[in-house]
Amino acid sequence: MSAKRVLAALAALTLAAPAATQPLIPRPQAERDMAKACAGRDGWGDPASPAHIFGNTWYVGTCGITTLLVETPDGLVLLDGGIPQAANLVLDNVRKLGFPVKAIRWILISHEHFDHAGAIAELQRQTGAKVIAGPNQAAMLRTGKPDPSDPQAPLLLKEPMRPIKVARTQAHGTALVAGGVHFTAWANPAHSPGSTSWTWRQCQGPECRTVTYADSTSTISADGYRFSDHPARMKAIREGLAVIAALPCDVLITPHPSASDLFPRLSGMRPLVDPQACAAYAEAAGKRFSQRLISETNPPR
Ligand SMILES: [Zn+2]
Repeated sequence: MSAKRVLAALAALTLAAPAATQPLIPRPQAERDMAKACAGRDGWGDPASPAHIFGNTWYVGTCGITTLLVETPDGLVLLDGGIPQAANLVLDNVRKLGFPVKAIRWILISHEHFDHAGAIAELQRQTGAKVIAGPNQAAMLRTGKPDPSDPQAPLLLKEPMRPIKVARTQAHGTALVAGGVHFTAWANPAHSPGSTSWTWRQCQGPECRTVTYADSTSTISADGYRFSDHPARMKAIREGLAVIAALPCDVLITPHPSASDLFPRLSGMRPLVDPQACAAYAEAAGKRFSQRLISETNPPR
């Protein structure tokens, strides 16, 4: 079976997974205009209010880095934690929505860089939550050190992360099931070796949608690194972007909220639901990567 057909089969499985349908509890503390609330403030540590996304999925991150909270009948799932200094901002947002932080039972991660996973060790300490690693993340999370094949490795070594206790690894195309909600892991090593996207179904009244937390797609590196010298990395990037393009995708969310225009969409300035969003997100990244390769062979003078 071709890679494409395997993906299609897995996507169909995910879509068939039962969606958790439960009454949406109104949480009046949620911010209604995130575009305005974070206007002019996109720092990774700039505090933000919590906001409702779709169904029982909430934004609890900062103005510059996404952290998501999903309420299930069997406890809370947190996705990403932000920079180390953001741990208490995230927990404050969870409390502002009216949830006890000890109700966070699982933590999932987009990729193993300090700006998204740096707060996880502290969040784990304060909540007791289990970290379920993406398909290729566990070694980096456990040591706090980057994979040597990461094009940003020399930069990341300057931002070491506290080691994270990893309960287990979720294999590609399989799901952590929490209170009937299936959080499916998709390895897409475009931005980093451990890059993972997560998808889950949410219902809001009669409307059920796939929420897609698609990982970063930027192909950046430490100075002096040339992607064209690393065929295995180039192949992983193209394959990772193909995985993102094929994801089940209704409500796209990205680790940097600006990469998916999340706040204007939450504020009603643009559609929140767009089934083509993942394909467009991957295609734009592929074009930027091609440009990068061209500039490596013909450096600008
Ligand atoms: Zn990163």
